[in-house]
Amino acid sequence: MAGVLDPELKRALAERVRYYNELGVYDFYRREPAESSLIPMQDAVIQSEQREEMTPRTKAAIAALVSEEESLEVANSKPESHVSDPAEALRLIREDLGDCTRCRLHKQGRKQIVFGVGNPNAELMFIGEAPGADEDQQGEPFVGRAGQLLNNMIKAMGLRREDVYIANIIKCRPPGNRTPERDECETCSPFLMRQIAAIKPKAIVALGAVAAKTLLAINAPMSDFRGRWFDFRGTKLAVTYHPAFLLRDPRQKKETWKDLQMVMKELGLAIPAKGVE
Ligand code: URA
Repeated sequence: MAGVLDPELKRALAERVRYYNELGVYDFYRREPAESSLIPMQDAVIQSEQREEMTPRTKAAIAALVSEEESLEVANSKPESHVSDPAEALRLIREDLGDCTRCRLHKQGRKQIVFGVGNPNAELMFIGEAPGADEDQQGEPFVGRAGQLLNNMIKAMGLRREDVYIANIIKCRPPGNRTPERDECETCSPFLMRQIAAIKPKAIVALGAVAAKTLLAINAPMSDFRGRWFDFRGTKLAVTYHPAFLLRDPRQKKETWKDLQMVMKELGLAIPAKGVE
């Protein structure tokens, strides 16, 4: 007899089917019900690999999806899965992360893990790229100069830093503030996904191209990301410039203000005349 799928799993599978369709894979084969309900997708991939030669890009995309699928299986047994209090769920995720040694960054000079900060019940979440020197020192995201500017952005929206939740794609400072490597993002971001699932914000703002590309798995310039909503696993996601970029090019603050106004409208926040300073 067919089992009833958990709604979260059902939604994740529907999203996965859409992904595969976008990759040109339409045929899925069912395994015996005794096997994991997540397996048929992998079957479909194998079948499609056997049928036709795939480009390296498609292969890489499928490999990423399959590993994401594996993480979905892990996600089902995650310690916070039956906890309804977001603060407690975040505590359990942090506990599970531990003194993380899952990627090379733990031995490349990080002082501490920068988990995330803010209101566990936040309606709005900001996601940056990676901790810098100040964040590594203090254990909190966006506390340096870019953080001051992010605070101004939050204030301009009529909110306080404590009202929102702030995190990064990766939780450890890359040496010399280099851009995170793909495998570092892949290793670390499942914890961010779990934080998002625990907080259930109404909207997410991705700060900069690295956060946008990683979350949306789309390789596009900022001009393609800005000024519109994306669906991120059922949550609305907008993209704006990274505050560190705005420090280098303050003229773009008025563009950022347009992005933030779009977000405020979605959250039902009153729009003040004054923008980001
Ligand atoms: N830049 C980021 O992307 N994140 C931080 O936490 C600080 C600077």
